[in-house]
Amino acid sequence: MQINQIVNVDLVKQMNSAVVYKLIDRQGPISRIQISELSQLAPASVTKITRNLLARGLIKEVEQQQSTGGRRATSIVSEHKAFRTLLIHFGREELILAMMDLSTKLLKKQNLELPDTHEIALIEEYLIEQLEEFIRQNEKRGSELIAIGITVSGFVNSKNLIEDLPHFVLNEPWDLANRIANRFNLPTFIGQDVRSLALAEHYFGVTKDCFDSLLLRIHRGVGAGIVINHEVFQGYKSNAGEIGHIQVDPLGKRCLCGNVGCLETVVSNSAIENKMQQMLEDGYHSKWLSLESHDIEAICKASNKQDEVATELIEHVGVQIGRVLAMSVNMFNPEKIVISGEITQAKNILFAAIRKTLETHALPSFVVNTPLVASELHNEDVIGAFALIKRALWDGSLLKHLLAGQNDS
Ligand SMILES: [Zn+2]
Repeated sequence: MQINQIVNVDLVKQMNSAVVYKLIDRQGPISRIQISELSQLAPASVTKITRNLLARGLIKEVEQQQSTGGRRATSIVSEHKAFRTLLIHFGREELILAMMDLSTKLLKKQNLELPDTHEIALIEEYLIEQLEEFIRQNEKRGSELIAIGITVSGFVNSKNLIEDLPHFVLNEPWDLANRIANRFNLPTFIGQDVRSLALAEHYFGVTKDCFDSLLLRIHRGVGAGIVINHEVFQGYKSNAGEIGHIQVDPLGKRCLCGNVGCLETVVSNSAIENKMQQMLEDGYHSKWLSLESHDIEAICKASNKQDEVATELIEHVGVQIGRVLAMSVNMFNPEKIVISGEITQAKNILFAAIRKTLETHALPSFVVNTPLVASELHNEDVIGAFALIKRALWDGSLLKHLLAGQNDS
């Protein structure tokens, strides 16, 4: 490889280490020769890089029998169990702390209620206290905590500052990630929750091999994550993907964003539950649902049992989602559309309604070959934070920290 003199040599080393680690992590078991071929790095460079990664314990050698029955070949895999990540989800109404190893195996999860205050300083104090306790309780000898990932249900700007949080008033952007990084002396990565979830879906889920895709997350709020050319599209001004705030009902309810009749006011879990409550109060009769029991899961179950009221509501929701997705499809024609959230438990009715609306509202040639699928990810609340850490391992920014001080002669 020819190195242009103006290129920082350390940066090149870091990039090459990241390329090798990513190949091993994604494609292992893999031999050094295969790594050299796929990365276009000289065999001597691959040997040197793998030596460093081995010394740090990030990869390990495994013996593999050649398929031709020849001598045993040494292959390499990445080490998952020896490293732990601390994950934080700062939701609209809750705080979730979790620990995962590098294979996405969930080791521990704790749901906490947010303290009853709007003072950001108090919330930060509470969060740090809880984190200290959580780390203390879940320390394990022989495994190393390497990074912290945070997702928030608000906006994060390009400087990794939180700019907006639903239900909280921020007088200035909140430097939470930096404060946590300094307090715990660990590399810390932060992102908006739905965009991070789209990244997780792309790394570990149903959009794994897609060049581009759209993930629509329906939970307490409604948002999308757009993946283009294998990366989450953030946009110059950050936070692109707020399709939950496209208006679907000009006479509808007031939205948290200040506008009226946004998609979120019609299809979020609470919007669906409130609508069902209203229908039941208006005298609609359901065999499965009552004024006491009509949460999103019960509504989905009822619709799966052909309950008329539930089916009518889910179909209405599907049509509204379909209208907004049709606009999105016309805009950027994604390879695949993924729906994530409890509502996918009513997939049969919901997806039929979405598909039908897409077919009548989007360009037919765009829709015809676009799969519409439900997310199959587990731990949707924290897997996005883990994806941010995985991205940092693969792009070299976290690997740099882990390899710092290694003798690379
Ligand atoms: Zn809105």
